Amino acid sequence: QPQVDGSGRMIGAEALLRWRHPVRGNVSPGEFIPLAEETGLIIPIGEWVLRTACAQLQAWAKTPATRHLTIAVNVSASQFRQPDFVEHVRSILALSGAPAAQLKLELTESALADDVATVVAKMTALKETGISWSLDDFGTGYSSLSSLKRLPLDQLKIDQSFVRDLQTDPRNMPIVEAILSLSETLDLLVIAEGVETEAQLVALAGAGCRYFQGFYFSRPLPIADLDRFLAAQG
Ligand code: C2E
Ligand code: CA
Ligand code: CA
Repeated sequence: QPQVDGSGRMIGAEALLRWRHPVRGNVSPGEFIPLAEETGLIIPIGEWVLRTACAQLQAWAKTPATRHLTIAVNVSASQFRQPDFVEHVRSILALSGAPAAQLKLELTESALADDVATVVAKMTALKETGISWSLDDFGTGYSSLSSLKRLPLDQLKIDQSFVRDLQTDPRNMPIVEAILSLSETLDLLVIAEGVETEAQLVALAGAGCRYFQGFYFSRPLPIADLDRFLAAQG
């Protein structure tokens, strides 16, 4: 799914898994990701997602028109917890030849619930390869502001629940503003997800948000359609 700036220009994409089952049709990740986590299959699946994203980055790096694009990959808590997670990502990056600076890893707050020192060490080790870190679904889980300060994060993602009810629930705007001002203090970028309407975009941009993702710009697309989306931007 494209991620865009305030003028709608694509700055990158988030990799979102799809499973086309021969009998059951499209199975949503909301259904199969929790199962994959329970069974441990999330480890090989997660590696495949990373390899596929890195191959795409490597392809984009060859063309001036696409080499600035980033790909954000979701990393589940159990994947991040693997003792050899850092080594795995490093070797996938090295083997693919993808520019690490274009790879973004998205963690949710549940991945950060472990011992802060361990989490910081892992994140720092990978950051040294050039990748960046984004905190997904921000504001919905548990994260202490003091640990947030210690983590080598680059970006917060404003959760779609705050964006969705922006017009209907007046309490959401102050939350969005608080996230934006917090991120400025901590020197973090912010992206709002789940942007579906122009009114939401206007409200978010007015509050100082500069990056966006959501159906208003584009639904998640197969890679061939994403290339067409890009080409249409000229
Ligand atoms: P997420 O990381 O929070 O991803 C955003 C979800 O919001 C995606 O659902 C996306 O299709 C949906 N979305 C995007 N724009 C809009 C919008 O404007 N309105 C609405 N209502 N929804 C929007 P999706 O693709 O069904 O994925 C659900 C979750 O599954 C993801 O939530 C993520 O937690 C997980 N997931 C997907 N791919 C992977 C993966 O490769 N690895 C792991 N570990 N988890 C994944
Ligand atoms: Ca995500
Ligand atoms: Ca999210």
